[in-house]
Amino acid sequence: MVKRRTPRPGTRPPEETQEREPTDDVVVRVIRSPRRKRTVSARLVNWYTLEVRAPADISEDELQRIIARFRATARRRRDKMRAFASDEDLQRRAERLNEALYGGAARWRSIRYVSNQNTRWGSCSPGRGTIRISHRLATVPSFVLDYVIAHELAHLLEPGHTPDFWKLVYRYPRAERAIGYLMALGHEGGATDEPIYPED
Ligand SMILES: [Zn+2]
Repeated sequence: MVKRRTPRPGTRPPEETQEREPTDDVVVRVIRSPRRKRTVSARLVNWYTLEVRAPADISEDELQRIIARFRATARRRRDKMRAFASDEDLQRRAERLNEALYGGAARWRSIRYVSNQNTRWGSCSPGRGTIRISHRLATVPSFVLDYVIAHELAHLLEPGHTPDFWKLVYRYPRAERAIGYLMALGHEGGATDEPIYPED
């Protein structure tokens, strides 16, 4: 599996969490934090939930104005992600990578996107032959998505994160760059000043 980085040490739990009324099937969850000075940030935590982080003292009017903008952007991006993020595309990529990297040795039953996987980029059940890919990867550069697929395919050949496993994974030429990209992405997952995807 490819794990996301855990939140930085010292990250405190949010001061206040509230659900707002659902609109256009994007639910906005607002987290106000006294630590946050000026910026408001937002990220899609799954297909349906937009998490907005705001300073504790921002006015309700201003916050609602910003949320309206974020929500519109989130809907556009979400719809775009859905259009591109097909399980058929994952299957094609997996077949191509399996041939190129592993001589076609990996066998699987299904590979698909899931939206309930927010702490892992990908996972593999070698016994069942199933691979799940976080929908959050639908908008990252192709070489990063391909890295996660190559990683999960390698688990079909070598379940543990052993030296042999990493030898397999590093057959993917851009593994190092992709790992760096994912680390940066995961690092910002706890609290970010970047708006929405893919920077969160
Ligand atoms: Zn792994």
